[in-house]
Amino acid sequence: MKRFDLILRGGTVVLPDAVRRLDIGVRDGKIAELAEELDPDDAAASADARGCHVLPGMIDAHVHLNEPGNGHWEGFETGSAALAAGGCTTYLDMPLNGIPPAVTADALRKKAGLARGRSAVDYAFWGGLMPGHVRDLPELAAAGAVAFKAFMSEPGGEEAERFRAVDDWTLYEGMARIAELGGLLAVHAENDAITSGLAVRLKAAGCVSARDYAASRPPEAELEAVHRALFFAERTGCRVHFVHVSTADALLMIDAAKRRGVDASAETCPHYLLLTEADMERIGPAAKCAPPLRGEAERERMWRMLAEGYVDLIASDHSPCPDEWKQLGPGRTFFDAWGGIAAAQSSLELMVSEGVRRGLTLPAIAGLLAERPARRFGLSTKGKIAEGFDADFAVVDLNRSYVLMREQLLQRHKHSPYAGRTIGCKVKETYVRGRRVYAEDRGITEPGHGVQVRPSA
Ligand code: ZN
Repeated sequence: MKRFDLILRGGTVVLPDAVRRLDIGVRDGKIAELAEELDPDDAAASADARGCHVLPGMIDAHVHLNEPGNGHWEGFETGSAALAAGGCTTYLDMPLNGIPPAVTADALRKKAGLARGRSAVDYAFWGGLMPGHVRDLPELAAAGAVAFKAFMSEPGGEEAERFRAVDDWTLYEGMARIAELGGLLAVHAENDAITSGLAVRLKAAGCVSARDYAASRPPEAELEAVHRALFFAERTGCRVHFVHVSTADALLMIDAAKRRGVDASAETCPHYLLLTEADMERIGPAAKCAPPLRGEAERERMWRMLAEGYVDLIASDHSPCPDEWKQLGPGRTFFDAWGGIAAAQSSLELMVSEGVRRGLTLPAIAGLLAERPARRFGLSTKGKIAEGFDADFAVVDLNRSYVLMREQLLQRHKHSPYAGRTIGCKVKETYVRGRRVYAEDRGITEPGHGVQVRPSA
């Protein structure tokens, strides 16, 4: 019997604290050995990574694949294909946008049943915290929920009916319960009274452009909600995570709380680092999200703070919808368009190319994309290239730039704010537990290889 199932040969390997040319020996889906040279005769198969960088596969902690019920928006097959093509090897699927939403153990199990055998890469599920469902939290955790998610502002659209925002009592009571369970609550932090009040006022005045939409969700709406959630977290002892942070001031506030001993973390998304309000105006609804894209100065501050360690992790917030919901027309303004950026396939490439250009090291970028999300969500076998860890890799050519065309996107609906943009590197292959699930020249090679992962205690 051979020592290895696979040797990935000659790649420039991004380790947690170094970048080295190494062979990677894989056995039983795990990284069995890292060495300058491994004997090809010791392996059943080998693959050539010369000329490329081998990064730990991205752990995308924030995607919306919308099953059950809304698979026509996206779905496990198409969503995971886009993720695999982007070098992501594990994703955490959000609890809303499915029918029913994953706010009960039954709903979560139903979703898990649908994902089985249909995802190219590994996955875990968020459970939802919503009014009337605090008592479901323990069973959701037992059913494998990796963590919990709450909205502090209404999700909007028809989702507002199914996945309701938390009131302060639900947030406080839910956090206390999650603290007892040793869990973690992620919040979409925007103050609903401010955002809906401003939206009503602007629309009444006929102000319905992209800029007006951005003006209806100002930084203070985010800051107030972050402040309140941190206060509740501090008082209840609940671990808290802030999804898609859009302002440097919010990062500062979260950092100050960490220094007081609050177990808090901050996520931001590539679009807050790559795009601005002006891009939203130019691109249109494909670049609409909440919180909205900010100005150029804010974006530059976000990069500086990221470089200084204020951002814990990067996630895509891949939130697709049918194409017609991104269209404007008679009676449909920017306010009516679906809010959500569908760019899961580009997260790693954008962060690697832009991060390197701005002087970040590859281990630092890999930390934000893989190691830190794995650690934060208790995925103890994932997130870094080290012996004993899952053999989850993104093989990336850093010497190749390309123009992203819509036809290259593997997601169901091919809108992306990055279509037409030149991206400074390219994912060539993606491996999940030692199996190649994506190759640039062949597409998805193992469509149902992914399995559900659960947080370790
Ligand atoms: Zn989201």
